[in-house]
Amino acid sequence: MLTATESEELRTRLEAELGRLVANAQSAIGFTMDRDRDRIGRDSMDESMEEELYSTQLRLHDRENFLIAKIQDALKRLQAGEIDECEECSEPIGFRRLMARPMTTLCFDCKTAREQVESDEATG
Ligand SMILES: [Zn+2]
Repeated sequence: MLTATESEELRTRLEAELGRLVANAQSAIGFTMDRDRDRIGRDSMDESMEEELYSTQLRLHDRENFLIAKIQDALKRLQAGEIDECEECSEPIGFRRLMARPMTTLCFDCKTAREQVESDEATG
């Protein structure tokens, strides 16, 4: 179980991350709208380059949405007092690990075991 101070620190950390991702997602949405506005009368010369940039932005956006959902999940678990409980073995995850990887749902041992099956560097 985390102390009140630890919970608060972790919440601040998660909310900062959430704010950053939401800002990024909004700029991706802005990019999409600009693209639609420029559609009429556009020179087709640079179209392939623009398509490439656009799909990169969309992929980024998908990833951000995924991470935003992860953070919202973590905040819910924090609220419920379950954030430091490993979803595999129910052992405490540990405050230092949570600060380093606030969206993780696994303790170090379970994560290491699972990493042999899947690689999920960004979230776990
Ligand atoms: Zn575990």
